[in-house]
Amino acid sequence: MAPDTVSPEERSRIMRQVRSRDTKPELRVRRALHAAGLRFRLHDKRLPGSPDLTLRKHKTVVFVHGCLWHWHGCPRSRMPSSNADYWRKKIARNVERDGERSAALERLGWRVEVVWECELAPATERLIARLTGRDAEQE
Ligand SMILES: [Zn+2]
Repeated sequence: MAPDTVSPEERSRIMRQVRSRDTKPELRVRRALHAAGLRFRLHDKRLPGSPDLTLRKHKTVVFVHGCLWHWHGCPRSRMPSSNADYWRKKIARNVERDGERSAALERLGWRVEVVWECELAPATERLIARLTGRDAEQE
């Protein structure tokens, strides 16, 4: 195999590894929220898109998004150089689905929060501050 040729199968395998690494940020968010005394349900299938976290008490759902898979547009969202068209379409479908899910959740009265991988710590802090009322904002 030429060094710059990766079969679709091999590329899929590589990208699956990328994706499974992307689940770690979700664990970090879960631990931080739990430590702050917040309780949530995981991947609630009754809601559109089975949000990563559902905080029923706060009528809030949280998605922890990998910057590449959900296309944040930040420096971490770098398209793989091989099969770029294939990945571009795949990621475009993710983005479209994300938009539909958010809209559906909002129609049901949920507040949708997205925590991006590249802003994990500050975004989680802000989220906790809002949910625990530490930002002094009454809802
Ligand atoms: Zn990002």
